[in-house]
Amino acid sequence: MADFKNEFSWSYSRDNLFQECKREYYYNYYGSWGGWEKNKADEITRTLYVLKNLQNRWQWKGSAVHDEIERILKELVSTGKVTPLEKSKSRVTEIMRNDFRSSRDGLYWNKNGSLRNEPALFEHEYRPEIPDQIWKRNYEEVILCLENFYKSSVIEEISGLPKEVVCSIESMTGSYFSFNTELYYVKLDLAYSMEDRIKIYDWKTGSGDADELQFLIYALYALEELDFDLDKISVTELNLFENYTKVYSFTPEQIKFAREYINNSIENMKSYLSDPQENEAIMSNFPRTEDRKICELCKFQKICFDLD
Ligand code: SF4
Repeated sequence: MADFKNEFSWSYSRDNLFQECKREYYYNYYGSWGGWEKNKADEITRTLYVLKNLQNRWQWKGSAVHDEIERILKELVSTGKVTPLEKSKSRVTEIMRNDFRSSRDGLYWNKNGSLRNEPALFEHEYRPEIPDQIWKRNYEEVILCLENFYKSSVIEEISGLPKEVVCSIESMTGSYFSFNTELYYVKLDLAYSMEDRIKIYDWKTGSGDADELQFLIYALYALEELDFDLDKISVTELNLFENYTKVYSFTPEQIKFAREYINNSIENMKSYLSDPQENEAIMSNFPRTEDRKICELCKFQKICFDLD
């Protein structure tokens, strides 16, 4: 694999990790860099890289739902046909079964190259005693989310739309801010335009309130990168677990807040770097959180306290 440089970029999830624990942020974005080369990376880098790619069961549930909806929508947009719900459920069941087995057998430790799509569950690494009912409930919640997706208006809305108006189905997009020189990444679950309006969807698969900042960043992206007027941008949160929708629109003051927030976040992240120009970091500059509850759920817990 060709060498490539670790370039700085900003994203909502990166900011979240930075808030949670500076050391976790370091392991995730710097310490694990290059660890995909199983036979070349040193042991610590390799371990950090493998651990970085673990997902807990709630994240796995979210990924299973997001990936299946992506398949359904892509099929719908390209062929005009709606995948029957029963077919979708069988497909996701098969995928989850295979992923579970692969993760349980720890195959992710053996794979060379990117582990981004490799099944690797936090619970198999750290909590092998998790009872079967918990895994079963997790699976049933995936099915519930899919059933609620089919009951929602989304399939009907997308059916018959020309392909060109669909701006995103789970596409990760890198763009530059108008107010900062850094690259940032946004991933919209679904976005489509209707004349001068854009409708952005975000699927949620758990309970609890969504973070409005995430939706505000979607609106900022639609405003700056896709050139929609602010009053023509809406973000719809579709909670597939609790089966409700909530629509958000944003004011110029909120956009101003988002810009300031992002500028501060970038400045803060860079202030921890040993060389901000080259995006170089030294581990000892990134302190561990003192909140041990965060550590209990952290992917790096098995190695963190052995390092300096
Ligand atoms: S184990 Fe705790 S201190 Fe270490 S990286 Fe994780 S959250 Fe931070």
